[in-house]
Amino acid sequence: MIRVTVWNENVHEREQEHVKAVYPDGIHNCIKRFLESDEVAVTTATLDMPDCGLPDEVLNNTDVMIWWGHCHHHEVPDELAKKVQERVLKGMGLIVLHSGHYSKPFKLLMGTSCDLRWRDGDRERVWCVNPTHPIAQGLPDYFELEHEEMYGECFKIPKPDDVVFAGWFAGGELFRSGCTFTRGNGKVFYFQPGHEEFPTYKNEYVQKIIKNAVQWAKPVQMLETLECIHPEEPIEK
Ligand code: ZN
Repeated sequence: MIRVTVWNENVHEREQEHVKAVYPDGIHNCIKRFLESDEVAVTTATLDMPDCGLPDEVLNNTDVMIWWGHCHHHEVPDELAKKVQERVLKGMGLIVLHSGHYSKPFKLLMGTSCDLRWRDGDRERVWCVNPTHPIAQGLPDYFELEHEEMYGECFKIPKPDDVVFAGWFAGGELFRSGCTFTRGNGKVFYFQPGHEEFPTYKNEYVQKIIKNAVQWAKPVQMLETLECIHPEEPIEK
């Protein structure tokens, strides 16, 4: 059983009627519904819960975390962001969605500004540029999102391990929409589509990508721990 925790800021859905109309019980519950299966158990956590919904007990029992945040990244305590980073280094998978590019855990793991070019709604064509990658399995050459927020290059991230999807926007911009990274023993996938005003997470291809990403990002069974290979004292010359 893969234990997934979907973390969502969950502010737009509560405060803005037009967003509530798209995701009446929050983006986190929409993701939970399509993700849950006989082999995937999903817990949700939101910013307004005690400890942001991520006390140690939840963190330590999560195999893959999914992160959606936008306007309230600063309300996530630095200490919690650091704990998420440390869990990833030990092997927890992390899937960062859309405006989560500015979340504290993602920025900590990337070590860069994660800035990007931005524009309001546009039509996006999401191209699969790495069809043999596990996250691309079952996806067509491309699919279209009639309304999605434009994120454009240059995306200030470190060089990804793989670029799996590339987004083209009708306004002419390009974006590395699906990128993978390895940090310590953990796998990280960033996926750009998912603006809160549009029903992106109800799109069958977007759902397939997130399902594939969970399978890809789940921790592998380590044959032996790598934690004790460092000598406690510096080696004397
Ligand atoms: Zn957005």
